[in-house]
Amino acid sequence: MILITGGAGFIGSALIRYLINHTQEQVLNLDVLTYASNLDALKEVSDSPRYHFVQANICDAEALQRVFEHYQPSVVMHLAAESHVDRSISGPSEFIQTNIVGTFQLLEASRTYWHKMSGDKKSQFRFLHISTDEVYGDLSPTDEPFSESSPYAPSSPYSASKASAEHLVSAWHRTYGLPIIISNCSNNYGAYQFPEKLIPHMILSALAGKSLPVYGDGLQVRDWLFVDDHVDALYNVIKKGQVGQTYNIGGNNEYTNIDVINLICDLLEELAPEYKAGDQFRDLITYVNDRPGHDKRYAIDASKIKSDLAWSAKETFITGLRKTVKWYIANAGMWLTLPQNTLSKNHIDIDSVC
Ligand code: NAD
Repeated sequence: MILITGGAGFIGSALIRYLINHTQEQVLNLDVLTYASNLDALKEVSDSPRYHFVQANICDAEALQRVFEHYQPSVVMHLAAESHVDRSISGPSEFIQTNIVGTFQLLEASRTYWHKMSGDKKSQFRFLHISTDEVYGDLSPTDEPFSESSPYAPSSPYSASKASAEHLVSAWHRTYGLPIIISNCSNNYGAYQFPEKLIPHMILSALAGKSLPVYGDGLQVRDWLFVDDHVDALYNVIKKGQVGQTYNIGGNNEYTNIDVINLICDLLEELAPEYKAGDQFRDLITYVNDRPGHDKRYAIDASKIKSDLAWSAKETFITGLRKTVKWYIANAGMWLTLPQNTLSKNHIDIDSVC
């Protein structure tokens, strides 16, 4: 049984669809269902007998203990987090609570449970902490991309909370021997991403004829990875990764924000011209004040995961972006109102797990 925290979020739900559709794994999704969750993203797999769901908060030590005792996971993949940088600037408290305290509680529950295990089960147990390249801070245009040994230099409350969590995870390995692995990934995009993030925000705003706000000069560089490639990498890390190691995951796709927005506009000209309000989608672009502390450039050196685990991304940014734009055009209706969380038949209330 693989325990996935945050499985109703963007990457977690893609991971669960991957595990149910492409492997024989039993999957337990533990998610408290914040505004960022979307159970619709799990509709196609939620009736599988291999899918299980518990609504619980990773900060709730008692609930975690009951979940570990009841489901006895062999692997934990920890994705639950507050993940939006702008929200972390206007209200950092939730980020400290979930990303740091929640990770601490999950580590403690894992350690207690792992200590009681024995034999092969104990030696095969893994705790994979899913993190971000934002913990490394930012790069100048001429710097080498981030490697696994880049120093931590987070800029925002979000990235600082993720860096703090990583330190806890490493310490639980060093001090208690908990068999952890850490992965640091670049910006993800793909189906079901909540529309506060750059790519879905721009696609849906353009389809609605709304302005496309660009922070500052729009020349911030991000390294993009298609979410289906990310979850494939995570499964490889679980299966083949070495305990105590960190793996950077990226697709070698550096683009400036303004290039990304122009590419989206060009794809919409081709794929959805009927949604156009004026002459061209690019006319909707407007420049707004930059975000405080905005990182200039992120870029990931993913050569270690390529050489050690024989993993590399299948999609280029151009092919992945085309799939993503097509998906949002076909599913635009889903996002007109905020996603409604409906419970699948495998929904289990935490109080029944004992
Ligand atoms: P998301 O915001 O879409 O989803 C987060 C999920 O976690 C939601 O379903 C939410 O309900 C759940 N959650 C939040 N707080 C919780 C709590 N206290 N207890 C239980 N569940 C809780 O995030 P995402 O974009 O899918 O990111 C998943 C992970 O990957 C995060 O840890 C993030 O830091 C990391 N990451 C994301 C990206 C990216 O580009 N999105 C890149 C690298 C790393």
